[in-house]
Amino acid sequence: MGKLGYDDTPFLPGSKYRVHDSSRPHPPVVVPGAGPGDPPSDAVVLFDGTDLSGWVSVKDGGEARWKVEDGYMEVVPGTGNIRTKEEFGDCQLHIEWAAPAEVRGESQGRGNSGVFLMGLYEIQVLDCYDNPTYADGWTAAIYGQYPPLVSACRRPGEWQTYDIIWEAPRFEGDRLVRPAYLTLIHNGVVVHNHTELMGPTGHRIMPQYRPHPPVGPLMLQDHGDPVRFRNIWYRPLGEYDRG
Ligand code: MG
Repeated sequence: MGKLGYDDTPFLPGSKYRVHDSSRPHPPVVVPGAGPGDPPSDAVVLFDGTDLSGWVSVKDGGEARWKVEDGYMEVVPGTGNIRTKEEFGDCQLHIEWAAPAEVRGESQGRGNSGVFLMGLYEIQVLDCYDNPTYADGWTAAIYGQYPPLVSACRRPGEWQTYDIIWEAPRFEGDRLVRPAYLTLIHNGVVVHNHTELMGPTGHRIMPQYRPHPPVGPLMLQDHGDPVRFRNIWYRPLGEYDRG
């Protein structure tokens, strides 16, 4: 193979590399998942459908007491929220969920759960198929802050995907120096595009940042409905140097 690239081209602005630079490091190889949604080779699998060994109960720090069956986990109402033992910050996260096929309740009472990044920032999980609710509590809302750009819900009982790009907030001491940002693709449809978060999730209160560590667990919510989850994995982001 001959030389790849050029050594006589102009330097890119603000970079030590030239246009098409032959000495620029090549990107590391990642083997993509076999099919859409499957974990790529560098993913950390948080739930592979077999057991909850990577999860604990938020209530008491003991075993996560949700049901595992046929490759998915299901909320057991009353057992409380669960979280991963794994803690992480900036990431690409994939998670699949299904609202109960048997439709019960309305508004916030139908298929409610939640995906909490760092245990603090909720992306709403709700069955909003033919089920209106307040806009900032909609399926895929950044709960209490931003409705999704569009409502891309599948029918209750059908599997739905969230593909998330998460940038954790940065603190210096007590001071917020950069807010959190979230991009969310729901069933292949962009519903948040690098949206700036106002702070952690609350109910009927104004969100307000408070300092926390640069990593945290993924938390899933028990809101009293038997919502299912499967195929949960993430890839840490922010460690690649492109020069
Ligand atoms: Mg919720």
